[in-house]
Amino acid sequence: MTQANLKIAKNTVVTLDYELRLADDEVIDSSTDGEFSFLVGHENVVPGLETQLIGLTTGDVRDIVVSPEEGYGVRDEDKIVVVPREALPEDFEIEIGLPLELEDEAGETSMAFIAGVRGDEVLLDRNHPLASETLRFHVKIGVIRDATKDEIKHGHAHGPHGHHHH
Ligand code: ZN
Repeated sequence: MTQANLKIAKNTVVTLDYELRLADDEVIDSSTDGEFSFLVGHENVVPGLETQLIGLTTGDVRDIVVSPEEGYGVRDEDKIVVVPREALPEDFEIEIGLPLELEDEAGETSMAFIAGVRGDEVLLDRNHPLASETLRFHVKIGVIRDATKDEIKHGHAHGPHGHHHH
């Protein structure tokens, strides 16, 4: 069975090579070895990228610009929270920019970054590091296939490199 004409759509798994740049030309993230794949339509990549991939097919090469609103969001100063130093693990080395995982009362985890130190208080920034950035992707579409039932149920792609479970 050939899927040569398959187009990117919800519940397909697409392999793609990409380079990500911000306002300048420096590449800040990339995958160019055919190893990156994801399940479409399950919030595995930023919405503005996914929307613009829909309908593309194997071999297509595109430059895709994603606004902050459709990317990692707009910086929100309310997402900077102040915690006492003692709320962090004793052996945790406070260093600006270091990520740490927060857990709320419901057990939901989210990422934060050390934004600063003020006396015995630490400022945690819950904004994504790429918030307010315009993302410029250069993409080359590789293999596209229909997702399996399990992949759709799990919300992620399975494969030799992509399968992990919590
Ligand atoms: Zn799974």
